[in-house]
Amino acid sequence: MRIDEDMREVFEEMEEEEKLEGGRCRHVQGEAKPHSISCHMDTGDWDILCKGCAEKRTRPPYYTIPLERFFVSNFETVDWIAHLSEKRWFVPKKFIGLFRNLRGLGGRV
Ligand SMILES: [Zn+2]
Repeated sequence: MRIDEDMREVFEEMEEEEKLEGGRCRHVQGEAKPHSISCHMDTGDWDILCKGCAEKRTRPPYYTIPLERFFVSNFETVDWIAHLSEKRWFVPKKFIGLFRNLRGLGGRV
C-alpha cells in the first residue's frame, strides 16, 4: 500500500527528529551551522538545531530561540536568561548543560 509506506516514512522522519545525539540535530552534529536553541517544555531539555530543524519547532511543546536573537547584545542575553528563569519548565542544570554543548561547537556558535 502506497499510503502506508508514505506514512511509515513520515513516522520514521518524526522519530529521527526526536532522537538527537548529544542535544544537537544530526545536521549540527555534522557541518550545519547552529541556528537556534530549543527547549522541550515537558522535560526542560535543550537542543541545538540547524535552521531547517528549528523551523519545525516553532510551537509548544518546544520553545525555540534563534541564536542571533539570544546573543544580539549583552542586554538581550541577560534579558533572555532572566525571562527563561521565570518559566515553569526551566531547569537550571539543563540550561547550563546547553552552554557546555554550545561550547563544544567552538567557533561555530
Ligand atoms: Zn537540523
